[in-house]
Amino acid sequence: MNRPHKILCALGATFALLLLPSCESSDARADDTVKQQAESDSKATQQDTHSMPPKTNIPSKRTYSKSGFDVTPLAKSDIAELAKKLDPEAFRVTQSSGTEPAFCGNLVDNKKQGEYCCVVCGLPLFSSNSKFNSGTGWPSFFSPVDPAHVSEKVDGGHGMERTEINCARCGAHLGHVFEDGPAPTGLRYCLNSAALVFHEKGSTMPASSEPVKSQTAYFAGGCFWGIEHIFQEAPGVITAESGFMQGTKENPTYKEVCEGDTGHAETVKVVFDPTVITYRQLVDGFFLMHDPTEVNRQGPDAGTQYRSGVFCATPEQLAQAKEVVSKLTSDKKFSRPIVTQVELAKKFYPAEEYHQDYVDKTGRACHVGNPWPQVLGVAK
Ligand SMILES: [Zn+2]
Repeated sequence: MNRPHKILCALGATFALLLLPSCESSDARADDTVKQQAESDSKATQQDTHSMPPKTNIPSKRTYSKSGFDVTPLAKSDIAELAKKLDPEAFRVTQSSGTEPAFCGNLVDNKKQGEYCCVVCGLPLFSSNSKFNSGTGWPSFFSPVDPAHVSEKVDGGHGMERTEINCARCGAHLGHVFEDGPAPTGLRYCLNSAALVFHEKGSTMPASSEPVKSQTAYFAGGCFWGIEHIFQEAPGVITAESGFMQGTKENPTYKEVCEGDTGHAETVKVVFDPTVITYRQLVDGFFLMHDPTEVNRQGPDAGTQYRSGVFCATPEQLAQAKEVVSKLTSDKKFSRPIVTQVELAKKFYPAEEYHQDYVDKTGRACHVGNPWPQVLGVAK
């Protein structure tokens, strides 16, 4: 099934829409008009850079691991501050790529259940579930808790080429990884005890070893490919996932939803870090990235599955979303009434894998614009 916007995407005709959209421009969707607008906006932006001070209050894009930790690399000054609390051996190992003598570390024979975290920044690195007795005299694991928590680089020291492993967040030297480990990975992560701090299962973890306290929001704004992509671009968004919700059919397929009688809307589930971006800012962005005045369609895509919707995870979200709609209406931001469905969320069903990260996989731009500079670029 080839939907019309797929053709548009393939032609790259809507690429220009990625530039500086506004509520006002979302009423005018004819490609030529939009292209002209985008070119005009682009020129204006180029001129403005000479006269306007740079916007400094936009949060930088952060990196999150699949297990929900903030793994954005720390600044050198922050690492130096954290390293001050280390004992001399931990400092030597983590900051100067040192190696502790075999059989001397305190975690070699540790058989307790729990997590092994970075001694510098607290990021969980390894679990007792992958620890094994390698007989080498160093704590050994066959996999990290999350591949995004441990980075690798070539170490050409000591006359041999080895793969050094580091904490992905603070860069602490941890040890090396070798290809002579047990199943299921065949890898042996060889650690220095001094680079790790062990937290036994059931004990209270420090805040630095906890995942981000995330929240979830749901938005339907036409084809989920583009909506998902733009939410993923927002600072503070941990994951954005395409799926279906607010209908009656359990576990719907894309084909069933396309046939139009499931009641589901193509929806994006957004998991976000509220300390970086607020729910209100996400809602503000959502109303800039699509046209909330279109009834059961968005651009070239028509059908109830393409309706505009904010599906709220909590009564607080519902109140905030309704407030945004009221304000946009009273401020006359759109020339036609906003028809966005604002209601409490029902069950979310993820779409098939080929729909996830579609824009990243294909390189095709879709019909939505990037609102984040506009939403986050002004002080709240
Ligand atoms: Zn670290």
